[in-house]
Amino acid sequence: MIMHGNGKSTVAVLGLGAMGTALAEALSAAGNDVRVWNRTSQRAAAAVAAGARQAGSSAEAVEDAALVVVCVSDAAAVRAILEPLAEHLGGRTVVNLTSGSSKEGRALAAVVDGFGAQYLDGAVMAAPADLGGPETLILLSGSATAYREHQSTLEGIAGRATYLGPDAGLSSLHDVAVLAIMWSVLNGFLHGAALLKRSGVEAADFLPIAQNGINTTAGWLAGYAAQVDADDHPGHDSTMTTHVAAMQHLVEETVATGVDPALPLAFKALGDRAVEAGLGERGYTALIELLLSGRP
Ligand code: NAP
Repeated sequence: MIMHGNGKSTVAVLGLGAMGTALAEALSAAGNDVRVWNRTSQRAAAAVAAGARQAGSSAEAVEDAALVVVCVSDAAAVRAILEPLAEHLGGRTVVNLTSGSSKEGRALAAVVDGFGAQYLDGAVMAAPADLGGPETLILLSGSATAYREHQSTLEGIAGRATYLGPDAGLSSLHDVAVLAIMWSVLNGFLHGAALLKRSGVEAADFLPIAQNGINTTAGWLAGYAAQVDADDHPGHDSTMTTHVAAMQHLVEETVATGVDPALPLAFKALGDRAVEAGLGERGYTALIELLLSGRP
């Protein structure tokens, strides 16, 4: 890490949208010497007000920085910024906190490796206002050496900066895996709220029962994760066939109330296919065998 006489380390932040600005602010608040650059220079005002120094070019921003943080719209923008810096990044660590795909993360790791720099691909699992907090989560994957070297600086951005492993695609994969959970929970809540609204029940009145349902289901996950990892799906608590019968109740109630049945029909279609695939007497986690088969 390049240190100054005052003991501060220099960190470059490239990209000053909502998230890049919050990153620069959190890094400044944590005591780093922050150099910022944005394609549209006028957007640097908030980061500068928080203590960062604005560089005249991206090359100037990274000049003294051992750690270069990039956070822009997408992978194409990351490449547009990093490729002209090929001669300037050697020996540095690039942390890319732009949301993207695992394929893009792995490809960017190869590009940055070609510049003689270390690469960490990241996913910010929080809103800009949450950066710098002790409970804020960012996911990181890629160079283990880079993570070890910069762990304390990264924890200044997010107290729960979590390293997932050397495969640079892992942070993006975890990011989308959490999105699958988020939309499942939100859609389930909204479907339930729609069913109840038809009978005059306010969403606020449904809330405690909905939250109890979400928490109860979340409590099953540790046991279910163990079953998935063991490839063992005992139907002790409830079999797939029992689940499919309950899915049919949900479909019928939904149709009877005139609510859009797309969601319960999707649940039921998966359940039916699991039974057809011979998983009817196994536990619910056996569904993962159907998912992993990749068959439509
Ligand atoms: P944003 O406010 O729209 O900012 C986009 C940034 O990308 C700007 O700095 C923009 O520069 C830059 N940019 C776009 N195309 C470029 C190019 N070709 N060359 C150079 N710079 C380019 O977006 P944001 O909210 O900061 O989001 C940034 C990333 O964080 C995204 O991947 C997003 O998914 C992720 N994220 C955001 C949030 C959130 O709540 N905001 C939460 C989690 C993750 P100009 O100013 O010059 O246009």
